[in-house]
Amino acid sequence: MKIVVKVGTSTLAHPTGRLNIRGVEKLVKVLSDLKNAGHQLVLVSSGAIGMGVGKLNLPGRPADMPTKQAAAAVGQCELMYTYDKLFGAYNHTVAQLLLTAEDVNFPQRRQNFENAVRRLLELNALPIVNENDAVATDEVGVSTTIGENDTLSAIVAQCAGAELLILLSDIDGLYTADPHQDDHAALIPEVREITPELRALAGAAGTALGTGGMATKLRAAEIAMAGGCDMVIANGRSPEVLYDIAAGRHTGTRFIGRREGA
Ligand code: GLU
Repeated sequence: MKIVVKVGTSTLAHPTGRLNIRGVEKLVKVLSDLKNAGHQLVLVSSGAIGMGVGKLNLPGRPADMPTKQAAAAVGQCELMYTYDKLFGAYNHTVAQLLLTAEDVNFPQRRQNFENAVRRLLELNALPIVNENDAVATDEVGVSTTIGENDTLSAIVAQCAGAELLILLSDIDGLYTADPHQDDHAALIPEVREITPELRALAGAAGTALGTGGMATKLRAAEIAMAGGCDMVIANGRSPEVLYDIAAGRHTGTRFIGRREGA
């Protein structure tokens, strides 16, 4: 199966911005094993800005654009160094692809990206994608950003022709209410259509270091579902859930992609 896995900063880094070593090691181990089992994987990884914050000892997520760009440049390097080292231990070769909105909005450039991903998968490499936050800023008059990696990962799933998109988050899935605030909140196991009611359920808040939230996850689900791709939101705390999801077992919230003729 061709699977795009998206990991958020909350899975990769502690709230300090420093690497969550145990979390990342587990993630890399499971992904390597799934690749060994024959799945084709693309990883969309956040964490550049968060890890840059840690490495540069900044007090928190930068508010100004140049510091954000600098943190991303430092953190992206650290991120890929970490992945290269950890995946290398399992004999997997990683490749870095950094995108801006222009790369996916212009057909020729999008085609270039698709070609690169296809060839990397043929060569059995593991493409690791992030937004190019060091240069993708909206302050130069044109909109060059996708903005967050939930949407980016759905676009990547489309470009890669993936059958499944998995968003690993700091939450177990989509709930009937905010589980951080409401004890009666219940997990929604399956979604076949994004209704206005569901949209109303999705708050916009993200975590301190990342940028996503439920609203962006629903937007990602819409893109994935329209392309016939299933999307699962699951908790990245235990990356072993990826085994269950890849095997089609119920975990988190599964959004069912639209099938031909359905
Ligand atoms: N591209 C951002 C980063 O690497 C993350 C965006 C997101 O959290 O969705 O820090």
